[in-house]
Amino acid sequence: MAPSTHSSDSAAARSARAADLRRQLDQASYEYYVLDQPTLADSAYDRLFRELQELESAHPALRTADSPTQRVGAAPQSQLPKHTHLVPMLSLGNAFTDDEVAAWDERIVRLVGDAVRNTGYAVELKIDGAAVSLTYRDGVFVTGATRGNGSVGEDVTPNLRTIRDIPLRLRDGGPPAPALIEIRGEVYMPFDRFEHMNQARAAEGDPVFANPRNAAAGALRQLDPAITAERPLRFFGYAVAVGDASGDATGQEAGRPRTKTAAPARRSPLPFDSQWDLLDALAGWGIPVAPHRARCRTLADVAAWAHEVEHRTRAALNFAIDGGVIKVDVLALQEELGVVGGREPRWAIARKFAPDIAVTRLLDIGVNVGRTGALNPYAVLEPVEIGGTTVKLATLHNFDLIAEKDLRVGDWVQVKRAGEVIPQVIAPLPERREGGRKPPVTKAPTRCPVCGTAVERDPEEVAIYCPNVACPGRRLEALVHFASRGAMDIRGLSYARIEQLVAANLITDVADIFALTAEQLEGLDRFAEKSAANLIAAIDESRTRPLSRLLFGLGIRHVGSTAAELLARQFGTLDVLAKASEAEIVAVRGIGAIIARAVVAFFADRTARQLVTKLQKAKVNFTEPRSVNSSGALKGLTVVITGTLPTLSRDRATEVIEQAGGRVTSSVSKATNLLVAGAEAGSKLDKARSLGTEIIDEAELLRRLDATPQD
Ligand code: NAD
Repeated sequence: MAPSTHSSDSAAARSARAADLRRQLDQASYEYYVLDQPTLADSAYDRLFRELQELESAHPALRTADSPTQRVGAAPQSQLPKHTHLVPMLSLGNAFTDDEVAAWDERIVRLVGDAVRNTGYAVELKIDGAAVSLTYRDGVFVTGATRGNGSVGEDVTPNLRTIRDIPLRLRDGGPPAPALIEIRGEVYMPFDRFEHMNQARAAEGDPVFANPRNAAAGALRQLDPAITAERPLRFFGYAVAVGDASGDATGQEAGRPRTKTAAPARRSPLPFDSQWDLLDALAGWGIPVAPHRARCRTLADVAAWAHEVEHRTRAALNFAIDGGVIKVDVLALQEELGVVGGREPRWAIARKFAPDIAVTRLLDIGVNVGRTGALNPYAVLEPVEIGGTTVKLATLHNFDLIAEKDLRVGDWVQVKRAGEVIPQVIAPLPERREGGRKPPVTKAPTRCPVCGTAVERDPEEVAIYCPNVACPGRRLEALVHFASRGAMDIRGLSYARIEQLVAANLITDVADIFALTAEQLEGLDRFAEKSAANLIAAIDESRTRPLSRLLFGLGIRHVGSTAAELLARQFGTLDVLAKASEAEIVAVRGIGAIIARAVVAFFADRTARQLVTKLQKAKVNFTEPRSVNSSGALKGLTVVITGTLPTLSRDRATEVIEQAGGRVTSSVSKATNLLVAGAEAGSKLDKARSLGTEIIDEAELLRRLDATPQD
């Protein structure tokens, strides 16, 4: 009797463990996919997932239909409309070592023979973003949706339209595109944009995002496309699914074929027969394709590629990846191999990389004064190597976050570094506190650590500020920002050099930079005759930067590079902008009341006005070159848009018309050259008819724009 009791006990324990794992994984998926706020690290999720998979494969009776191992993602739960995919969007199986890749390959060879050994594998970066499917009908982007649970996602078409590198119409550069095609890929946020956005949010006192993936997924699922448009999203394509032109849900996903049992009814043929050519076709159609892909003949090549990507390429990328994807290259073989358990294709596998997280000691919490006066805390760490780089400092964003994470000086902490992003402290490991002792809390300072002025805090914001405009800390950061790459781009004027020039009393404000002479520089440490001359030449060259760069460089609150461009384009010169009223500034498309108020306040300030005069005397350019689009199909035309266009939002239509050299105005007059009319067009259409203005629809607009390069 004893053995059977024992086995039923352990069976009960296994079943309880499986149920517990399912529950934990479901909760994590909900937080990750629906809330975009994971509380579990991806590597921890992967470990639990693996455990459940192993348990289920050893004891198939434990496998339930709703197990996370049998499903993709999570069912959509937002207020966004639902979208049923033409062909399900799948997940991928994982391999964490080269041996696991070899085991996957052996399974393939068992199924389709060693044909794959002759034709090889296409290997790609595994972008850590949010999967979407973009539907193009007759080459025009009509619908876009998130992956959701694989079968049903959320329709986020208006949001996807705001992503500038998703073409609204496929280009003619590749083979002819099927009449109805879904292009699948990943929406992501580049690291530099992410960092910039988080810094701006921190400076404005808004909560910062944990990582680019969550920021991208959250931005994509906004109910208001205007919010998505403000978030710097980008796209990479890697797969397609085709259907028949009537839109019937039959078809195949290349990169992900239908299961063998699905009917092949009337589907459009694919104009390529390998994953490699598929990616080339996407690029030809104007879809961005991730760099560093390769075709590998052998598994040894695959392993070498994965090693190179993990240890070299990854650190230099401006976007997050969490591995590589290895795909059987030939589509006919992919189709033969099909899908496992409705969840993952048999012919592809994700080769996951080691997490870029390390554990080290938090030695101190320092405070930096930003150019807006925001006090930014940072972590001083015991040096630790992450992904081939030694990390000594990490951002802590703001004091609320320190309190929320309960970080204490002396704690062991988890630190993450990805690509160029400033390393971040993820969480403390309180269980490693010696003797369970809690070190004292680091309180937010009440005085500016640089100038000693009492700090201020806007109750609506999380940041605390040094209000002293003459604070040397703020001044230093303002100078650094002015010289930075996105602003005046003064090569050679690094942080250290600026510190040196400030210490030598050679510069206090940004206009002083233009009064520097080679003789002054040569008198300083670490400046030779040549480096002094080079810096003076770089400063001189920066005088001609367009107004948009200067405006951004001035560091006017809330004026980022996009707002600076909009303002420069609209007002043309700094003098005109300086005299503009709040109402005139708000009238610029893309500029809201907060920015307008900040601009007016800036130019109303006496110190700022004196600075502008000084810059003018230094012969710094105050004008924005008119962007005459010489090849623009609509060059010099005044265009009015009316009614609802079938695929383009009003903003996007305006943008593409302006990119093609046209000017969009709101009312029809004799000066109007073209009216673009959509559904339910009213009085503007009547007026255009009475004036004999040329009237076109969206399809004709897109046809004319075809001659115009889109970005
Ligand atoms: P996945 O991210 O491991 O892999 C599949 C996905 O990779 C595809 O759906 C596609 O979106 C993407 N992908 C990126 N580049 C690709 C390329 N070149 N070709 C094909 N596909 C590419 O699987 P998943 O189902 O999206 O999510 C599971 C993973 O998500 C887990 O391994 C875990 O890392 C993470 N996750 C984390 C939590 C958490 O709580 N932290 C919860 C759920 C999921």
